[in-house]
Amino acid sequence: MAATPAMVGAPLSVRAHEGGCPGCGAVLPAADGPRHAYLGASAACWALFHRLAPPPDRQRTKRLIHDAYAAQHPGVPSRRAVQSVAVHLMDLCLLLEHDGQSHRLEPVLGVMPRRRALDLHWLEPPATRGTVTIVDALDARDGDERAARIDQWAELVWGAWEPHHETVRRWVGV
Ligand SMILES: [Zn+2]
Repeated sequence: MAATPAMVGAPLSVRAHEGGCPGCGAVLPAADGPRHAYLGASAACWALFHRLAPPPDRQRTKRLIHDAYAAQHPGVPSRRAVQSVAVHLMDLCLLLEHDGQSHRLEPVLGVMPRRRALDLHWLEPPATRGTVTIVDALDARDGDERAARIDQWAELVWGAWEPHHETVRRWVGV
């Protein structure tokens, strides 16, 4: 939402909210920061993404954050958005249904020619994409509590995409 003259210079606390984030629905104070190029996130929500840093020894949690956030903020159809949604849903499938294991993991996620061969296409996003958001993840205490909240977040986002699970599993090849 563009700032109106009346809003310019007003304290953050009294500025109009920009409405819910188009991706996750989180209602946050309006922010003027950058938005992601193709994820459908408000500037305020995107700023939160940068605050949610997992401990370096939690690779699974780090992947779940990226996957859950991207799948909850699919944006609108474009070449990059198609790939983003597809790849992050495939990774959610692998992490949540197969404990991260798949013989197709490297070819699917790392090699473009193979990815093209999968005929990735736009998956129409579900109307709601989970009731847990990055706000809830940040509210949890650092450590195990936050990791558990992130797991829950990822599970709910993956569950919301249920109409496309079979397509995603076919892409993953599991
Ligand atoms: Zn959001």
